[in-house]
Amino acid sequence: MPKDMQSQSIPLTAGTARPAAADVIIVGGGIAGLVAALRLSPSWHVLLISKAGFGEGASSLWAQGGISAAIGTDDSPELHAADTLRAAAGTADPDIISIVTHSAPDCIESLREWGVAFDTEDDGSPALGREAAHSRNRILHIGGDSTGRGLMKTLCAAAQRQRTITIREYCAAEELIIRNDRAVGLYCRDLNSPEMPAQAVFAPAVILATGGIGGLFEVTTNPSECTGEGLGIAARAGALLADLEFVQFHPTAMNVGITPAPLATEALRGEGATLINDRGERFMIKVHENAELAPRDIVARAVWREIHAGRQVFLDCRAAIGPAFQNRFPTVYQLCRDAGIDPVTMPVPVAPAAHYHMGGIATDRNGRTSLDGLWACGEVASTGIHGANRLASNSLLEGAVFGAAAADDICRTLNNDNRSGKNAPANRATPAARFRRYDAKISALTLARLRQLMSANVGVVRRQEDLLATLHELDGLMAQIDDKSAMAANMLLAARLITEAALQRCESRGGHFREDYPGPNPAMRQRSFMRGDDAFAKQPPQIMA
Ligand SMILES: Cc1cc2nc3c(=O)[nH]c(=O)nc-3n(C[C@H](O)[C@H](O)[C@H](O)COP(=O)(O)OP(=O)(O)OC[C@H]3O[C@@H](n4cnc5c(N)ncnc54)[C@H](O)[C@@H]3O)c2cc1C
Repeated sequence: MPKDMQSQSIPLTAGTARPAAADVIIVGGGIAGLVAALRLSPSWHVLLISKAGFGEGASSLWAQGGISAAIGTDDSPELHAADTLRAAAGTADPDIISIVTHSAPDCIESLREWGVAFDTEDDGSPALGREAAHSRNRILHIGGDSTGRGLMKTLCAAAQRQRTITIREYCAAEELIIRNDRAVGLYCRDLNSPEMPAQAVFAPAVILATGGIGGLFEVTTNPSECTGEGLGIAARAGALLADLEFVQFHPTAMNVGITPAPLATEALRGEGATLINDRGERFMIKVHENAELAPRDIVARAVWREIHAGRQVFLDCRAAIGPAFQNRFPTVYQLCRDAGIDPVTMPVPVAPAAHYHMGGIATDRNGRTSLDGLWACGEVASTGIHGANRLASNSLLEGAVFGAAAADDICRTLNNDNRSGKNAPANRATPAARFRRYDAKISALTLARLRQLMSANVGVVRRQEDLLATLHELDGLMAQIDDKSAMAANMLLAARLITEAALQRCESRGGHFREDYPGPNPAMRQRSFMRGDDAFAKQPPQIMA
């Protein structure tokens, strides 16, 4: 590796190995980043940076239901693909779906080899659960509803054992460094000393695995580190983005005044829990033939309408689950108790919350983005598997499959590029960071307004006039921020792009509902693509597909 491309000036976390240089920088320590790092080890030196403590601040840690894979005797990758395609509401990529569902059994095997122990039946066979819209039992889980915790604990431990993986905690990526139209590194800020200048780190390959965008909304189930910054960083560098308007809102986040909102898993409704309003009415019966088990977007809108009509909504688990709650759903039980609710005897107040982003940085089957040197995987990427609506438990799977695919592609690329010397830098000077300062005060005020705007106007139900007003106000906030806060600037750009995409899709499909266009438009049955620099240049991007 050329000397000036080596990982520079980033102090390394105590207790981990100290590689001389990074071949690959991975931003994000959720399932996608960890699988990529483990797959690259021990052949390549990886620098894994994460905004939070290692293993924390990731949606992967909070996953409850599980990870899907067609491994049951009555199941097949084709059936799994058909369910995924059906849920996607018409805009998914069938080839990508097929790749993911066919890779799923091997992916589960790799997780097991790294030490992940899924729950089993008494005879030792995998315990397979069922979730809404899956036609077979195919959800592997750990500790009942503690899947994320189980996965992350094991994968983090496996990564810490690898001397070729260096972990840098409390460090935020802010901006890609581009040379000759190729990503060659990143500016990162040490969050323990945020007033210090951002540091440049270089590597021939960069993977963004920064997770979702829930933090752009006032009410979200995502950890507070999942703020869409990876999307903003890629957009700023001109990478192609896809399907940004498709945000999944979970219908049953606990409405208990806690941010982020704790999740009451869909599996509770699968077990018979009902949704009632403060008049005791089971309103879903009038909305859909499957009542509480209707598709997630339909339940979310029904809950939203009740709340907007001035009524409170509750998830009532008393009859269906009752005293078995603590044993069957230990994670949700504890979350309820922490909020002062006993779900055995009390209905749980719920509201819709931003939960999952189907859109993201456009990637191909190898996790490659449109920008040389940059890969993306996990929730920040948009592979086309989810279309307009994600099937439950497919996102951990997608993160693991494409984390591995990106790593494999990087192995091939680094081998070829090292031979050809393609990564030699065009000039030796490091370009100046755009974000030199860090202004926490302006960030906090701006971000509070950003989140209000997104929840009120770009949430479960959207209208043209609200979207236009939001764009206008976001532009004003962007002008105020300028280069004062990378985090705020990246979040504002991500929010602007999502709003623009929602404005352009003049129909309702999957997670995207327009009150002014309440039905699907067959002419728009396609993915949407846009470039971040369009919004940055204040020109409306186009639906290109
Ligand atoms: C409450 C909850 C329950 C869920 N349950 C399920 C489930 O049962 N099954 C399922 O399939 N999916 C589930 N999901 C969705 C799934 O958990 C996520 O889509 C998936 O874990 C995303 O993995 P990831 O690796 O892409 O991102 P994450 O796991 O979110 O990790 C992102 C990482 O990037 C870091 N990061 C972010 N920005 C920066 C930055 N600028 N610089 C440095 N680091 C940064 C974060 O700190 C974190 O380490 C759930 C989500 C939530 C919120």
